[in-house]
Formats: sequence, C-alpha cells, structure tokens
Amino acid sequence: MKEIKFFNTLGRIQEEFKPVSEGEARMYTCGPTVYNYAHIGNFRAYVFEDLLRRTLKFFGYKVTQVMNLTDVDDKTIRDSRKNSMSLNDFTAIYKKAFFEDLKTLHIDPAEYYPAATDHIPEMIELVQTLIDKGYAYQAEDKSIYFSITKFPEYGKLARIDMENQRAGVRIKTDEYAKDSVADFALWKAWDENDGDVWWDSPWGNGRPGWHIECSAMSMKYLGKTFDIHTGGIDNMFPHHEDEIAQSESANGCRYVNYWLHCDHLVVNGEKMSKSAGNFFTLRQLLEKGFTGNEMRWVLLSAHYRKKLNFTFDACEQAKMQLKRFADFFLRLKQVDGEGGVCTCTLDMLAKTEDDFAAALAEDLNVSEAFAVVFALQRDVNRLLDQGELTKAAAVAVLDVYRKFDTVLALFNIDAVKEETVPPEVLELAEKRREARKNKDFATADAIRDRLKELGWVVEDSPDGFRCKQL
Ligand code: AMP
Ligand code: ZN
Repeated sequence: MKEIKFFNTLGRIQEEFKPVSEGEARMYTCGPTVYNYAHIGNFRAYVFEDLLRRTLKFFGYKVTQVMNLTDVDDKTIRDSRKNSMSLNDFTAIYKKAFFEDLKTLHIDPAEYYPAATDHIPEMIELVQTLIDKGYAYQAEDKSIYFSITKFPEYGKLARIDMENQRAGVRIKTDEYAKDSVADFALWKAWDENDGDVWWDSPWGNGRPGWHIECSAMSMKYLGKTFDIHTGGIDNMFPHHEDEIAQSESANGCRYVNYWLHCDHLVVNGEKMSKSAGNFFTLRQLLEKGFTGNEMRWVLLSAHYRKKLNFTFDACEQAKMQLKRFADFFLRLKQVDGEGGVCTCTLDMLAKTEDDFAAALAEDLNVSEAFAVVFALQRDVNRLLDQGELTKAAAVAVLDVYRKFDTVLALFNIDAVKEETVPPEVLELAEKRREARKNKDFATADAIRDRLKELGWVVEDSPDGFRCKQL
C-alpha cells in the first residue's frame, strides 16, 4: 500500500499514516448542527473530508466514516423554540436539506450518520463512567461537569498552558474561547430555556452537552481508539480538546491517532459564519446560477490547511474551467483515428497517474494534483491539435481522467455529450457560414452577435463549424 502522509494537529507534524487495522481507515467527522441550512464555509469542511475519504479509497483502504448530526444543543433548542416547533420537527427540515446539499456537491455518503437524540442512553452511560472514575462531578446547579484538573494532559491538542488556569471555574455553554478554559458540562440539568427538551437521567432531567455527543457516538461505531478525526480548525478548541479528555479518561487509552483540521473559508479575510452574517448557503449560490460541481471546484481548489478566500470571481473561474474540461472530453470522445497507443503516450499517462497519486499522498496536496490534471490536458490538447491521437489513445486518456475523478468527483466524464443545438441556432450558424463564404462580413458579424444573445458561439474549422453553448 502506498505511503500516505498527513499533518497531524496533535504534535503539529507530518506523519506517515498507519491505521490501527491494516488496510482499513476508520474516521469520525464532526457533522452539522442542524438548526439552519449549512453555509458553504461548513461545506468546505465536508468537501475536505470527502477528499480525504476518496483519497483513502483511491489508495485501496476500506473506509468506515461516521458523521454525526448534532440535533440537540444550545442552538437547536433556542431556534426550535423561537419558531414554536418541536425540536424533532425543526431539526428534520435541516437534516433533509443537508443530505440534499451533500448530493449536490458529490460528497460520497458516510457509512453512518448517527443523530445525537438517538444516542442519549450511550451518553448517559459514558457520563456515569466518568463520575465513577472520579473525572466528573455534579455541581449545585445539578449539571454534571468534567474536572479538567483530573486529566493532566488537558490542552495537548490546542496547546493550552494549564499552569496559569484558574481551577474550579465552570462553563455550561457548548462554545467558549481558549481564554475561558474551564470545567465543561457533560450533562446539563434542565432549565426553563430548554422548554420541553429533556431526558430522564440518574442526575435528574436534562440533556447532554455537545462534546459528549461525539465521544459517545464515535466510540459506539468506531471503537475506543480509531484512526482519523476531522473538523474545521474552529472545532479544535474546545470541542475536540474536550472529546479527548472525556474519551481518554473513560477508556484509559488513546482516543484518536490522527487529527486533521481544515482551515476556514473566509470572506475578505474574515471566517464565513452565520454569526458574522457574511455567509452564502449552497442554495443561494445555486439560485445565482452556479452548479454544485462549480461550487465543489471552488471548495476543493486550495490545500485544506490554507485559508480559502470566497469570491464570485473564483466561482466564474470554476465555471469556465469545467466548461473547458467538458469540451476537452467531448473532443476526446470524437477522436476516431486508427492504430494503437504509442509507448510515449503510455509513458506520459503512467507518469501522470504517479504524479497525481504522489501529490495526494503528500498530505492531500490538491493544488499539485490539479496541476497534474491541467498539464495532461495541455499535452493531450497539443496532440489533438496535431491530429496525432488515435482512438485507442483517446480512450486511454479518458480512463486516466475517470481515475482522477474517483477522487475529484468533478468531471462526470460519462455524462459529457454533444449539446443538442436548437434548429434556430443551427439555421443562423449556416447563414453565417454562407455570409462568410460570400465575404459579407458585416452580416456574418451581426449573426454572430445574435447567436451570442441566444447563448451560443460558433467555432469555425476547415471542414465546417461547431456550435457551443456559452
Ligand atoms: P457547525 O455546524 O457550526 O458545527 O460546523 C460544522 C463544520 O463546519 C465544523 O467542522 C466547522 O469547523 C466547519 N466550519 C464552520 N465554519 C467554517 C468556515 N468558514 N470554513 C471552514 N469550515 C467551517
Ligand atoms: Zn464533534
């Protein structure tokens, strides 16, 4: 199996990937909090995780991926109440929307999508274990807290200096910043803000904290120690730090071997987020006329550990590039030259495949992988221009792109077909050719402008013309 290297946030170094079980990769990805439509910042994280999953499969790993659905937390309760809906009815809307969006972006489904509300008994059991082992306690407010001083390694992921922290301070909210490091809530006793959302527990009515959800569900589906845990960089603290503390204290063994975090999608340098109001949902972008493929291109286009700036210019670029590739694949499909595949073409394709694999194996270097994909397109276009490609060679090139597309999921090569040209457009194109033959360039140009208005362009060639949609 090819060696793959990942940058492990735990330790901040690039390491060779060695799974717990040979040939298998077990990964957990923090999923959406289903209180609104996910924005494309969130989808940057999911597209990165999809790239990771597809890359592991490309290298022959059997992948078991778990993505949780956070359908109970501070935000889902707050907004379901605001909308006077039951928590279940409210979150069902956004769960459904989320799965539709995943499809639009060609994100391969995970093996498991456990919802937090379906795993309350597992969470209660885990909290009980933490109490029994002396890591957790019930406070005056009846909630159960994790005592971070009991876990000496607390802070190892986010690199928090525990020396100067105040002991015994507690925090009940799910999200908090590094400067409010504190004992965090595992189980939150019911209060009036929770309305009718509560479960019975040994400590009275209440609900789980956000962090315990992921510890309990990952353990259930992946075991006490598994290979990869991912999320956006903002999840590192407190969420992932708290997951480590809970899981390693309860189980007495390492929780996760490789932590991979993607950097943010930003707008003018600021993280795209619901609270900043600088976000676009996927749906809003589809309404503006972009496709899921184009958005996937945009979200894939930078290395996952680099910030990615969202601009409409980048969306237009993606549209143009995908169109160029569609034209390229069509051209290849139309090649009908006889003969086999020469050794130089075979060598070129083999080298391209190797380079593509090497780029991905180097901590998912997608920019380098794209460079390989572009270089092959350029070289093959040259051969096409020279009429030097046989049908067999064109088929071999298309097969290489099909392989690339198992990872990139952008090209959908088999769906690329000649556009059906409306009769009106064909008629105009014929008239234009006539005008050009008669050297009536004014009429030919006027027809070209009319075609443009209709969204078509005519490309002239020695043996005729070809109509292409703009
Ligand atoms: P949430 O629904 O807020 O829990 O976020 C779901 C996922 O999206 C998490 O992995 C976050 O880290 C990630 N995320 C949120 N905002 C962004 C952003 N602007 N860029 C990249 N990832 C993000
Ligand atoms: Zn999580």
